[in-house]
Amino acid sequence: MGNEIKASALLLSVLAGRFGDRLSVSTAAREQHAGTESHLPGAIPDGVVLAQTTEEVIEILHACTTHGMPVIAYGAGTSLEGHLSAERGGISLDLTGMARILSVEPENLLCRVEAGVTREQLNTHLRDFGLFFPVDPGANATLGGMAATRASGTNAVRYGTMRDNVLSLKVVLADGRVIETGTNAAKSAAGYDITGLFVGSEGTLGVITEVTLRLYGIPESILAGVCSFTTLDGAVDTVIQAIQQAIPLARIEFLDEKQVEACNAYSKLDLPVRPTLFLEFNGSEAAVAEQAETFHAIASQNGGGKMTVARQVEDRTKLWKARHNAYFATKALRPNCRVWSTDVCVPIAALAESILGTRADLDAEGMLATIVGHVGDGNYHVLFILDPDNHEEEARAAAINERMVSRALALGGTCTGEHGIGLGKRENLIRERGGDAVALMKAIKQLMDPSSILNPDKIFT
Ligand SMILES: Cc1cc2nc3c(=O)[nH]c(=O)nc-3n(C[C@H](O)[C@H](O)[C@H](O)COP(=O)(O)OP(=O)(O)OC[C@H]3O[C@@H](n4cnc5c(N)ncnc54)[C@H](O)[C@@H]3O)c2cc1C
Repeated sequence: MGNEIKASALLLSVLAGRFGDRLSVSTAAREQHAGTESHLPGAIPDGVVLAQTTEEVIEILHACTTHGMPVIAYGAGTSLEGHLSAERGGISLDLTGMARILSVEPENLLCRVEAGVTREQLNTHLRDFGLFFPVDPGANATLGGMAATRASGTNAVRYGTMRDNVLSLKVVLADGRVIETGTNAAKSAAGYDITGLFVGSEGTLGVITEVTLRLYGIPESILAGVCSFTTLDGAVDTVIQAIQQAIPLARIEFLDEKQVEACNAYSKLDLPVRPTLFLEFNGSEAAVAEQAETFHAIASQNGGGKMTVARQVEDRTKLWKARHNAYFATKALRPNCRVWSTDVCVPIAALAESILGTRADLDAEGMLATIVGHVGDGNYHVLFILDPDNHEEEARAAAINERMVSRALALGGTCTGEHGIGLGKRENLIRERGGDAVALMKAIKQLMDPSSILNPDKIFT
């Protein structure tokens, strides 16, 4: 322990000499960089350093390697599974100073950005080109952080996740070497898929400093809609049938009654308090009208009411803002409590069994929680609202989560559709992938980061 304190002090003095006031050791900065949105308490790093270039990232990794201290890349700090917790102390490497949009190539439908660019910043910049980047985790995350967590969100049902939309990454490895993982080509069969290895690596294999992304044309027509149902089964069956009939939905989001109640109060809506779907259709005028009509026919057969549509930008924005604020709306249901967002994802045909089983568990336990999700992908979240001092309540939530994960795995699904493993799902990863697959992941980590300085203890111990 004494040696670690000495190493940390030495490292901080080296970084202070080099980075001046871009190194912070204030308690407030360190606490903020430990991950404030996670349901797990975050251990605070010894210091926070703000990098502005790839060369500076290389210097910081060299310094951390020399002193044997951990380094945890930091994007916007919105991850949910203890990803930023400094379990073994060390440095939080803040990439928000690397926020330049390096190039946009409309003719190739791609762009190159620094890792600290946020998705809202990018989409504001792209509007004048008639383009957009679709991956949308709701939170205004950085593109580097989104790549590192293999993020998705409301648009993934149509446009895919970060796995599908990252073409290439510039990555600084633990020993300071810099690699480019791909090219600007739309596809490649050149060797192992190194881009795919880093997408979802949660800062454990290297620090991403630049990202090349696929872009899309803003659709000619966008129609958003809200449809409420008499039963939860009706809403879920509608989703399954709409996906199975290949309606090219751009978004289809489920909110249970409690979530609708929370959104009504938080976002000043007056939706009927029933199981509800938020939808979006993209395409030409005619295509959008046809998609909405086909959807409505399916919904009507399953107890869906009339679909309220929003065509104007302001109306659509209000609707999706309310959806994106679902987490904060849930938090507001119970002051001074924290939200634990679970994250299972199942094959689409298993969605009804998964959600109905979870609902029954919540009802049986009398737990205060909402259900919300990107159901077109078979992905949904139970948002528990927990009193941080009530351990018995937390244990009951954990038991429900365990059953939810077990059910998802039995149905051929995963313990995490989009939030990642972090600290919180390490045991579930072993259950899901098996010991041999996790051992292979550990061997890759050992090869690429032999001193385990890159975000140690995340994904596995
Ligand atoms: C209200 C709310 C709603 C959310 N909804 C969704 C959702 O719908 N879908 C979804 O996928 N997620 C969602 N999330 C989770 C979160 O937004 C994503 O995980 C996001 O991708 C994290 O990005 P970030 O920039 O905040 O990264 P951070 O939280 O800063 O970091 C996340 C992880 O990535 C690593 N990392 C960050 N930057 C880099 C880098 N440049 N190089 C290497 N590693 C790096 C970190 O070390 C850490 O392990 C939500 C979160 C909140 C608070």
